[in-house]
Amino acid sequence: MADRVRFGPAGNPLDFKGPTVEAPIYVKEEGLDAYEYQAVRGVRIKEDAAKELGKNAKENDVYVSLHGPYYINLASDKKDTYKKSKERLLESMRAAMWMGAKKVVFHPGYYGEKSPEEALKMCIEALKEVVELAKNEGIRGVFLAPETTGKPSQLGSLDEILTMCEEVEMVYPTIDWAHIHAREQGLIKGIKEYEKILSEIEKRLGSDVLKDLHCHFTKVEFTDKGEKTHRLLSEKEFGPPFEPLAEIIVEWDLKPVIISESPTLDRDAINMKKIYERISKKIKEKPVKKGRKRRT
Ligand SMILES: [Zn+2]
Repeated sequence: MADRVRFGPAGNPLDFKGPTVEAPIYVKEEGLDAYEYQAVRGVRIKEDAAKELGKNAKENDVYVSLHGPYYINLASDKKDTYKKSKERLLESMRAAMWMGAKKVVFHPGYYGEKSPEEALKMCIEALKEVVELAKNEGIRGVFLAPETTGKPSQLGSLDEILTMCEEVEMVYPTIDWAHIHAREQGLIKGIKEYEKILSEIEKRLGSDVLKDLHCHFTKVEFTDKGEKTHRLLSEKEFGPPFEPLAEIIVEWDLKPVIISESPTLDRDAINMKKIYERISKKIKEKPVKKGRKRRT
């Protein structure tokens, strides 16, 4: 069980110029405690470097996750793409194990010409295969974490992600709040929408999964085709709003890892952490609001 809410950047901090293996040291110095290694263009890190990164993270109490390659499509009609996608996922799990990362985040794929049901079925079969291969290979302590996706053309609605988690062992959700917001045309207005989504996760996957959620957060601009551009936390005209999420995290005593995907990465991770700490202090100092019970 996670000990606290953690914040960190997706990839190397903005002003960090050192070697990637030292990124967790820098992250810690900034007052952050999570880091998502980006293997989005392919898993290129070697075993030695991955282990060094993991050692630096462990010594600095920085939680590491790994974002797998974008070139993954577990619903592809092309046999070769389908096969390579599974291999890329397995490669990602291997690298994650080396660096002590618990979650391999990835985008499941595209519907293409298929119905959502067919695409989901293919994806679930692929995930089962990858999990089996990983187990046979002796990969332990690493979980697959498919992400809610930002475009209606992509497999990865909240419902589909939760189904993958229900159907396949070693699979846990990554909740990308901006993606849900963009995919559903500005769905998240405030605390009600967050409550609804989090309750759904709890209902289907249980309260342990809810408490330990892996999240991505950024403000986002979207069109009718979904996600367009990531925006700064300070840009009030864009959603989703962070404050109500922070509020519910405190009220429900959740301990998520929140990875900032804002254009300013670590800087907005620091800003989110400050907002969370301010709201946490405020809520804990005053009695519980009528009608909304604090759950512990
Ligand atoms: Zn992603």
